[in-house]
Amino acid sequence: MKRIGVLTSGGDSPGMNAAVRAVVRKALYEGMEVYGINYGFAGLVAGDIRKLTRRDVGDIIQRGGTFLYSARYPQFATEEGQLKGIEQLNRFGIEGLVVVGGDGSYRGAYALTKRGYPCIGLPGTIDNDIPGTDYTIGFDTAINTVLDALDRIRDTATSHVRTFVIEVMGRDAGDIALWAGVASGAEQIIIPEKGFDITGVADNIREGREKGKKHTIIVLAEGVMDGKEFAEKLDAIDNFHVRVTVLGHVQRGGSPTARDRVLASQFGAGAVEYLKADKGGLCLGLRNEKIVAHDIVDTLDNMKHKPNLDLYKLNKEISS
Ligand code: ATP
Repeated sequence: MKRIGVLTSGGDSPGMNAAVRAVVRKALYEGMEVYGINYGFAGLVAGDIRKLTRRDVGDIIQRGGTFLYSARYPQFATEEGQLKGIEQLNRFGIEGLVVVGGDGSYRGAYALTKRGYPCIGLPGTIDNDIPGTDYTIGFDTAINTVLDALDRIRDTATSHVRTFVIEVMGRDAGDIALWAGVASGAEQIIIPEKGFDITGVADNIREGREKGKKHTIIVLAEGVMDGKEFAEKLDAIDNFHVRVTVLGHVQRGGSPTARDRVLASQFGAGAVEYLKADKGGLCLGLRNEKIVAHDIVDTLDNMKHKPNLDLYKLNKEISS
């Protein structure tokens, strides 16, 4: 394969730029050409495509977001959408594609592979909820952003002996809550994979107070329920005057950490190696610190993302 494309799709995550940079630089190093496609599959269908040079990806490794922009484009799930996309790939002579995104984006990559345009999927999301990899591009940055916020909240919580519920992102996965919770020394971590008993949470707050704790930090994953509702349930049991902070989209932005940049660079270069060998229908992951490739369909249909629940147990043991 001599000419490839790259796009970012679904929700953005810090490190996507580092991945695109690695794709471009590695492909040029291998004597291939790279075309950047703006706005994910929407831009593919619209033909929003341009050749990328080495310089086009200069000065982006440190930036959050994605300089190729991203979009949700459900029409790409239809035959009509895919055929239009292929028309554009042919127009630009693009033989294969690197798709950085979540599992929805993987489905788009698989659809193109089936139609004869090999694609490689790279896991890009802060939620860490993509099967086939221990870590996704953006997760490390997001947990460090959350950690910074939690440290700040702890200062004010301690000064006023307050209970805080901090709602963090993660969709149906509790990874952000788990990692940021352990790292910040949160008293309780509430994740969808474990559920919770509200009277137990209240007892824990009271026990902490009796032991002389000056604050209670509860990290709540958004997949459980929203922070306000959770706080209302707690206040209904006792007059805790729970304060709620919803971190929201700040978790998605910011300069990627070293770990995310390195991971994204390894993934980007790895994708080019597979396409150079005309291999597609694969998604890359990190398993035990090694880059691995899995069949996309097998990943989507048969693998399940599992958070590290040892961290949940650990936090229970060391947080009081
Ligand atoms: P996020 O982590 O933000 O959820 P994602 O990649 O899962 O990322 P989606 O919105 O589910 O986000 O998918 C991104 C895009 O991938 C869609 O907007 C659509 O263009 C394409 N896509 C999703 N599902 C399919 C499908 N079944 N077939 C073809 N393309 C798809």
